[in-house]
Amino acid sequence: MTTFAAAPPAASTAPPLVVHKVLTGQKALVTGANSGIGKAVAIALGQAGADVVVNYVEGDDAANAVAEEIKKSGVRAYAHRADVSSEDQVAAMFARMMQEFGTIDVLVSNAGLQRDQAFHEMTMAQWNKVLDVNLTGQFLCAREAVREFLRRGVVAAVSSAAGKIICMSSVHQEIPWAGHVNYASSKGGIKQLMESMAQELAPQRIRVNAIAPGAIRTPINTAAWQTKAAYDRLMTLVPYGATHLRLTTLPVIG
Ligand code: NAD
Repeated sequence: MTTFAAAPPAASTAPPLVVHKVLTGQKALVTGANSGIGKAVAIALGQAGADVVVNYVEGDDAANAVAEEIKKSGVRAYAHRADVSSEDQVAAMFARMMQEFGTIDVLVSNAGLQRDQAFHEMTMAQWNKVLDVNLTGQFLCAREAVREFLRRGVVAAVSSAAGKIICMSSVHQEIPWAGHVNYASSKGGIKQLMESMAQELAPQRIRVNAIAPGAIRTPINTAAWQTKAAYDRLMTLVPYGATHLRLTTLPVIG
């Protein structure tokens, strides 16, 4: 089996991560893939052999750089700008993917954001933005993917599943989060969306799972690690002692 060894972050004492080419020939779409977790997932999917669509909503240069990085693994990749909360833009993104790659095997619904506010001061705009992107965006992308999975069915030479969906949730699907009710509500919604879809679609051999990360150092939570005081406070909640991005997600996807 061909493998790829990625160097760990400079500050990490972890051994090199070996990525097996278990997704050769599969077609993947990662939303919110020009930053943070989505970027790392998209690059790792390419390392595992998949062709990858890098979705993003702003930051053309960052998105194109991720696509170029993925191509170094010898697979195809391109960046596609689309707001996952827009039904039309999501439909257009999937239509282009059908043209470019022919189908979709793996959807990683990762795009997400925060609009933090005290509960009594939260505006409709803050509430709606987070629910629209974090939850409705997952629904819209999953619906397009499932329509294609059902049309195509299982291709035994590619995968034993008709398709795979991974929803990026959060520990806050379970853990209440004062000052972030819109975000916690969106992640609780993702848990039910994922589990209900998994129950409904399992007979068609469509797998639906979620990843619910704890704190990972990305732009979404800069306030939680940019000062020493904030970082030390965060570390009291992180038994592993680090918030570096390090992927252990591929067994869920393969
Ligand atoms: P990030 O800010 O680095 O990345 C978020 C990505 O989502 C960006 O690429 C952004 O462009 C994209 N995005 C935002 N709105 C979009 C829209 N309307 N359409 C398409 N893309 C859009 O943050 P991250 O930490 O990498 O977050 C990724 C996911 O992981 C989010 O769903 C977040 O809730 C979840 N998560 C993060 C943490 C953490 O500690 N970082 C913990 C748990 C869950």
